Amino acid sequence: MASTAQVIKLLEDMSAIIQENKDFLTQLDMPIGDSDHGINMARGFQAVTEKLPALADKDIPTVLKTVGMTLVSTVGGASGPLYGTAFMKAAVAAAGKSEVNIDDFIAMLSAAIEGVKLRGKATTGEQTMLDAMVPALEAMEGAKGAPAGDVLAAGLAAAQEGVEKTKDMIATKGRASYLGERSLGHQDPGATSFTLLLSVIAKAYA
Ligand code: ADP
Ligand code: MG
Repeated sequence: MASTAQVIKLLEDMSAIIQENKDFLTQLDMPIGDSDHGINMARGFQAVTEKLPALADKDIPTVLKTVGMTLVSTVGGASGPLYGTAFMKAAVAAAGKSEVNIDDFIAMLSAAIEGVKLRGKATTGEQTMLDAMVPALEAMEGAKGAPAGDVLAAGLAAAQEGVEKTKDMIATKGRASYLGERSLGHQDPGATSFTLLLSVIAKAYA
């Protein structure tokens, strides 16, 4: 179970892990993109961090909606609208809830993925963030009923495997698609950043 205070703590930790991995994410975006994914994400999550104190007395859907709108307006690039949509769709899926449990989280991730697929006109196997998100969701759905920590650990392990598999994919969406077959062998930055965000939640419930 997570309350607003716990969600805010998770968002602070997400911001921290993105700042710590800013250079790493940017390096991943160098060979297949324009070397800005870490910079984009760090800018967006810094803006999120600044908004969090004012959200302490709001409900979880309002917090997540604000995060999504902040990311859309600050991250930029392809990933800004996509991560923004993900958080806004998660907010809708959490409507009316003052606390969320692991089954709610699974439903929120599912809604986020549908949003990213629609917004990005993308599916799995195209070397994008979806190649971490979708395996994570499937693993968590498969682990439903187990303690939250175990469900999240299964999701994180699947996301990490998904990131590895992006190296065997040819990008057909986003900037990396301009490279065609030359995108082979490269780890997708967006799949990596999603996995970092999920790792924060998994760690909190381990
Ligand atoms: P940009 O590519 O505009 O510079 P970023 O570097 O911040 O934006 O983000 C790149 C990441 O966005 C990619 O690694 C990929 O995971 C994700 N991405 C790009 N296009 C799409 C899309 N159409 N659908 C899903 N994810 C995408
Ligand atoms: Mg980029």
